[in-house]
Amino acid sequence: PRPDLDLAALVRTIPDFPKPGIQFRDITTLIADAAGFAESVRRMSARAAVYRPDLIVAVEARGFLFGAAMATAMGLGLVPVRKAGKLPGVTIGVDYELEYGVDRLELHEGAVVVGHRVVLIDDLLATGGTILATARLMKQVGAEVAAALFVIDLPDLGGSQRLADAGIACETLIA
Ligand code: IMP
Repeated sequence: PRPDLDLAALVRTIPDFPKPGIQFRDITTLIADAAGFAESVRRMSARAAVYRPDLIVAVEARGFLFGAAMATAMGLGLVPVRKAGKLPGVTIGVDYELEYGVDRLELHEGAVVVGHRVVLIDDLLATGGTILATARLMKQVGAEVAAALFVIDLPDLGGSQRLADAGIACETLIA
């Protein structure tokens, strides 16, 4: 464990990606650093364990990186929530609003069921639209969302407030 390690220093900000005016937080430099990746997974796992989940649900695509590592560290299975058309089996989907237009997230039918207690994992919380859509999928199948965990929070974009309003516990390593 490296409780002293400054994870924020390992994340870079790329201006004007993917569009002019967006300051993109890039976690590829964090996960390329062995100590940084290990420590971020350790801290995320320690926080997730408090909620006693029986399954990790990770959101495409960067949520997979952290969710997969957490699942093996915690001895839990991993269920991916993916963009429309990527999962091969029968799926359950949810549409959610983007700044321009709508997008769709899907889950394999039967992958999460009534009684499952899950934690939702993504790399970054911005407006909260993605994770709230994922939480709706969990509600549809009767699972309990114990918490949502992120490496990075962008509090100015309101996601943490929206999660609080929805009654979803939220944990982030870097704000
Ligand atoms: P939200 O739905 O507005 O909360 O946006 C969060 C989703 O968009 C997550 O799946 C993130 O991976 C992605 N995202 C938004 N902004 C960034 C960023 O600056 N860096 C990395 N991912 C981002």
